[in-house]
Amino acid sequence: MKVGILGGGQLARMLSLAGAPLGIKTLCYTPEKVSCASDVTDVFNGEYDDWDALQLFASKVDVITYETENIPSRALYFLEKQKAVYPSIAALEATQDRLHEKKLLQNLSIQCTPYFEMSDFNEKNVLLETLDYPFILKTRRMGYDGKGQCRIANSVDLINSQKKFDPNSVIIEPMIHFERELSIICVRDYEGKINYYPLIENVHEQGILRISKAPFVAPGLEKKARECAKKILTYFNYIGVLTIEFFQVGQNLLVNEIAPRVHNSGHWTIEGAQTSQFENHLRAICGFALGSTSVLNEATLFNFIGNQPDLNTCLKIKGAYYHTYGKEASPNRKLGHLTFVGDKQDPRTTIRLRKIHKLIF
Ligand code: ATP
Ligand code: MG
Repeated sequence: MKVGILGGGQLARMLSLAGAPLGIKTLCYTPEKVSCASDVTDVFNGEYDDWDALQLFASKVDVITYETENIPSRALYFLEKQKAVYPSIAALEATQDRLHEKKLLQNLSIQCTPYFEMSDFNEKNVLLETLDYPFILKTRRMGYDGKGQCRIANSVDLINSQKKFDPNSVIIEPMIHFERELSIICVRDYEGKINYYPLIENVHEQGILRISKAPFVAPGLEKKARECAKKILTYFNYIGVLTIEFFQVGQNLLVNEIAPRVHNSGHWTIEGAQTSQFENHLRAICGFALGSTSVLNEATLFNFIGNQPDLNTCLKIKGAYYHTYGKEASPNRKLGHLTFVGDKQDPRTTIRLRKIHKLIF
């Protein structure tokens, strides 16, 4: 079995690593000249509008998936004529555009962060009567890791942003004062069976995920998150891994974002769950039985942003698992992660976590 992956970043790299024990090979397709997946799998260089290259790529694989939603859907419609694409292109199209995503959530009666369109500001900025500064402006497409969004702190920022952005290319969100950020990762197979990982608690800084902790135990919220995930999975007749990011406000969950793919907040599943998100995604899209999503041990995931801690120092910490993505360092770039697994009750866990904090921050 050979899986074609659009994109050659760390998610493609970890998907490829997960496939190896099952005899699933991968081939990545990316316009990037340097890609970190190339350390572990074959990479095919091509633009997303190079139809000859895409055709050749499709001829070399059995099924196609993607590691990012920032891919022109035209490329996928073209590929789909040759090989099955999972998750469906409809799921990709709905989630690669924040406005479409919001409308989908509204249609499915799922609560999400309120939003406005730039055009709502016309008519003498009437909207300002209902919206307090600061609020957030987000580009509809191509955002990730907080890129493609900015805070509007006052009327000067607002006027500048109205000059800078095409009003149809952005949305506005009020600042949500949430208790915490949570995510749920789930996987659905050809027959409609769904497995859910537990809720994950996420800490972001400047729009970038820094830390994820799993499991976050809150049965009431977990039930709500699963209901929401099930609605989306069923609506798309979805195959593969899906992630939903939430803001917890009181006992409510507001959807922040949906990702039709494996997700950074799920990297802990490599060591912390019976089956990793990467393996389960491959199992789902290849038509194999899903693996258990049960937690093996409490896990904390730390991202390496901009620089990486010393490998050997980290390896000396019991329960710490080091993952480098083999990328050039640059500010705000995700270069790798470390997952710590260990029981919260164990006093050594606190000491080890403190050590890891010191090494990473
Ligand atoms: P990702 O890497 O998850 O794709 P992104 O760039 O697409 O990120 P979001 O997930 O929308 O962007 O936002 C990144 C982070 O910024 C959120 O996880 C949250 O911490 C903060 N944030 C975004 N929108 C809001 C909001 N309306 N109110 C408060 N905080 C917000
Ligand atoms: Mg996000």
